[in-house]
Amino acid sequence: MEIEAKFSGRVKKTQCPACGTGLDGATSFESERAPLEGDYSVCAYCAAICRFGEHGQLVAATMRELLALQDADLELFAYVMKMHTTARLMVREREKAAKAAISC
Ligand SMILES: [Zn+2]
Repeated sequence: MEIEAKFSGRVKKTQCPACGTGLDGATSFESERAPLEGDYSVCAYCAAICRFGEHGQLVAATMRELLALQDADLELFAYVMKMHTTARLMVREREKAAKAAISC
């Protein structure tokens, strides 16, 4: 089943705090607007769960924040975890493809 993005566009250039990849785009399947401070984001390159900071920079989400989100908004928490799982699967597929290319 194909899910359609509600928002896809450019954001202020930032780096993933986990893998260091430069990022300047965002896609949302949940919201029609560009991300704002405090919004959650999942890195498409390493699957790290982050939040947008005061100046549009990404900061790693803490376990405490995620547990608080689970208490405050279970639907959003489930959505963030779904996106994290999807990104992890994409990372795993890229790693498999890279290993296959090396062994050829
Ligand atoms: Zn990353």
